[in-house]
Amino acid sequence: MLLIFTCIEHSDRALDDALEKTGEPPNMEKISDESNKSTSCSYCKNQAVYKIK
Ligand SMILES: [Zn+2]
Repeated sequence: MLLIFTCIEHSDRALDDALEKTGEPPNMEKISDESNKSTSCSYCKNQAVYKIK
C-alpha cells in the first residue's frame, strides 16, 4: 500500500508520484495526529505536513 509523507513544498510532486504509482487519484490528508508529527518529508528534510495514500 502506498503511503507518502510530504511537506507543503513537495505536495504537488508527491501527488504526481502517487498517481503514477497507483494509477488512481491520490488521497491527501493533513497530518494532525501527534504520532505522525515527527515524520519528515519523503523528498526533503522538512517536517511532513500531508500524507498521501
Ligand atoms: Zn519536502
